[in-house]
Amino acid sequence: MKFIDTHIHLQDYKQKCATDIIASAKASGAEKLVCAAIVEKDWERIASLAESNPDFVIPAFGLHPWYLEEANKGWEQRLESFLSRFPSALVGETGLDRIRFREKEPQFQIFQTHVALAKKHCRPLLIHAVKAAEWLEECWNNLPQKFVMHSFNGRFELMQKALAAGSFISFSASIFANADKERIISSVPADKLLVETDGPYQAAEKGAESEPSSIPEQIEKIASIRGEEPEKQAEQILKNSLEFIKPW
Ligand SMILES: [Zn+2]
Repeated sequence: MKFIDTHIHLQDYKQKCATDIIASAKASGAEKLVCAAIVEKDWERIASLAESNPDFVIPAFGLHPWYLEEANKGWEQRLESFLSRFPSALVGETGLDRIRFREKEPQFQIFQTHVALAKKHCRPLLIHAVKAAEWLEECWNNLPQKFVMHSFNGRFELMQKALAAGSFISFSASIFANADKERIISSVPADKLLVETDGPYQAAEKGAESEPSSIPEQIEKIASIRGEEPEKQAEQILKNSLEFIKPW
C-alpha cells in the first residue's frame, strides 16, 4: 500500500533516529513524508533532512502555537528565506490552541502571518486547531487556496465548517478514539481525505512513538468505516496527498 504521511516531526524522535524512521517508512510503502517544524531551531535540521532525502522528505516551516515565546524577532523574514530556498516547502505547523493558551494573542497574529506567507508564496498550510472554533470563525474566509486541519479530532460541526472553507482533513491514529469517529470519518469528501502520523506523537500506546509504518493499518480502518476497498482507499488518499502538497 503506497501512502504519504502528510504530517510528521522527524526531528523529534527520541527512541530512533530520523534515518531509521525514513528507512522503515520507505519499506512500509511511504512515497513521501511531510516533515513539519515546531520551533525555529527545527528549520535548519529539517532543511538538511530534505536536502539529503530529495523528493522524499518534504519540508514544512512554521511555528507551533505551543512555543510562541520562542518566536524571535525577525522570524517572518527567516521563514520566508526557507520558503524561497525550498520551492516545494509547505507552511506549518501553525495554528490556534485554546487549551494551551487561553489568550488570543499573540497566537492569532502569528497564525495570520503564517496565512499571509502561505498565500504570498502559494504554499499549502498545515493547521493545528484545538478548541479554537470561535477564533477560526474569523479565518475561514481568508485562508490560502490549500490548507489542512491536521490530526483532526474535533467536532463534526467544526469539520463541516472547515470543509465548506475548502479544507483538507487529515487523520492520525487519534481519530479512532473519537466517540463520533464513524460520522466524522465517513463524511469527509473522497478527494479531501489525508492521513498522517503526527509522529512521534499520537501513538496508540502510551510512551510509544508513532511511525509511518502504522499508516497502512490506519488506512484499512478508515476504509472499513467508509465501506471502501482498502487498496482503492489508499490510492485515493495518495492522489489527494499529491494534490495537497503541490504549491500553486
Ligand atoms: Zn504536529
